[in-house]
Amino acid sequence: VEGLELAARVSPMVDDNVLVIADDESAQRRVDAVRRDFVANISHELKTPIGAVSVLAEAIEAASDDPESVQRFATRMQVEAARLAELVNQIIDLSRLQSSDPMLTRELVAVDEIVSEAIARSQERANKRHVNLILASTARVSVMGDRWQLVDAVSNLVQNAINYSDERARVAVSVIPTTVDGVPVVEIKVSDNGIGIRPEDQERIFERFYRVDYGRSRQSGGTGLGLSIVRHIAVAHGGSVRVWSRPGQGSTFTLQLPAHPGDQPDTEESSS
Ligand code: ADP
Repeated sequence: VEGLELAARVSPMVDDNVLVIADDESAQRRVDAVRRDFVANISHELKTPIGAVSVLAEAIEAASDDPESVQRFATRMQVEAARLAELVNQIIDLSRLQSSDPMLTRELVAVDEIVSEAIARSQERANKRHVNLILASTARVSVMGDRWQLVDAVSNLVQNAINYSDERARVAVSVIPTTVDGVPVVEIKVSDNGIGIRPEDQERIFERFYRVDYGRSRQSGGTGLGLSIVRHIAVAHGGSVRVWSRPGQGSTFTLQLPAHPGDQPDTEESSS
C-alpha cells in the first residue's frame, strides 16, 4: 500500500516532468526550425547580389574594348555591392535585436529630433523621386530609449513610403501624443498615398524577408527585412507598430512608443 501511495504521489510529478521536457523539446525544435529557415533565407538572398556582381565582373572583362559598356556594368556592379552591404548590415541588426541582449542604450530622446533626423536621412531619396516629404505635425514629447535605433525605425517607414509610392506622391509624418488606457504614449505616423497593401498581406509584411511586390522591392533595393527590424525596435522599447492600408489609396504606419512621464507635450497653459 505504501508503495502504491508513493507511486500515486510520484507519477503525476513524473508526468509533469515528462510534459515539461516534451514542451522544452518542442520549443527548442521550433527555435531550431526558425533558425534554419532564417539561414536558408539569408543564403538565398545573398546569392542574388553575389551572382550579379560576378556576372557583371565577367561582362566587364569581356567588354574591355568598349569603355561605355564597361562604365555601365561598373555602375550596376556598385549598385549590387551596395545592396549586398545593406543586406549584411540589416542581417547583423536583426540578429542583434533578436538576441537576449539587443545592446540598446537608454536615454531621454525628444521625438521631434528623431523624426527630423529620419526625414533628413530620407530627403535625398524623396527628391530623386519628386516625392513631397513633409512633417505634418509635431509635439514636444520624449521617449526613453536608443536614439539611433529609433531614427532607424522611423527612416525605414519613411523610405518605404517613398519607395512604394508613385513619383510626385506625398509622404507625411506626424507626431501625436495620446493615451492608451490612461497611459501616455506617442504615435509617430507615416502616411503615403502610394500603392497600398492588400489586407491578407498586412500582417505578413512584418515577417523577415516577406515582400508583397518582389519585382518592385528588388528594383527599389529592398531586402524584405526593414519592417521586421522596425517591429523589433518597437517591441524592444515597449511599443508596437501597426499598419492601416487600402490598395491603390495608400498606407499609414503607426509606431507607438511609451511617452516619458513628466515630459508631456507643451500645452498653452504649461508653456506660458
Ligand atoms: P523591403 O526592403 O522590401 O521594403 P520591408 O520589410 O521594409 O522590406 O517591407 C516589406 C514589404 O512590405 C515590401 O516589400 C512591400 O511589399 C511592403 N510595403 C512596405 N511598406 C509599404 C508601403 N508604405 N506601401 C506599400 N507597400 C509597402
